[in-house]
Amino acid sequence: MDQVAFRQLWRRFAELIHENREVLNDLDAAIGDADHGSNMDRGLGKVVEAFNANSEASLHADAKLVGMTLMSTVGGASGALWGSGMLKFSTVLPDAAVVEWSGFIDALDAFVEALSKRGQAVVGDKTMMDVFLPAMTELRDSVDVQEGSEEIVVALAEHAKGWSDATRDLVARRGRAAYLGERSIGHIDPGSVSAALWFQALADTVRDQVS
Ligand SMILES: [Mg+2]
Repeated sequence: MDQVAFRQLWRRFAELIHENREVLNDLDAAIGDADHGSNMDRGLGKVVEAFNANSEASLHADAKLVGMTLMSTVGGASGALWGSGMLKFSTVLPDAAVVEWSGFIDALDAFVEALSKRGQAVVGDKTMMDVFLPAMTELRDSVDVQEGSEEIVVALAEHAKGWSDATRDLVARRGRAAYLGERSIGHIDPGSVSAALWFQALADTVRDQVS
């Protein structure tokens, strides 16, 4: 993945979050405080602004810019998780404009590990980790496949949507939604939807690169 694609990925994610902000707010209204869409939309809008204002020298610098921006603008648990995760992600990326697919997966691994440490959520807790953890397993299995393998990321985006949809049947065990206990059943976790949209953005970006 090169810097152009990396920025495209975040621009696309910003678009998808913007298009879905009301859906995300409504999902959060059911089991949280109704601001997940607005928070993510504000933060990603700032990421796009930061990209427009900065021609960063490397992937590392770009990822750090994303992390710092999300940390300071998204707010709440999501801001801390996405922000600190992306800062961790940036430490694994090289001070270069291009990274091999395996290096990109290593960085994402560091991102997910940072999320696990901070949020302490596992699969089944009805959080963004219900998407990120199985996605990491699937990506690690693809590590030997050449970059630009559209099939892998398109399939992954579809699976991510499925994992997110499946949080509907779970009892929330983390965050504000956990206070609802059994009453959280029947509602999809908004954080998992954002995570699935990130994989959609990745698929769209790789598809654009290939075509
Ligand atoms: Mg909220």
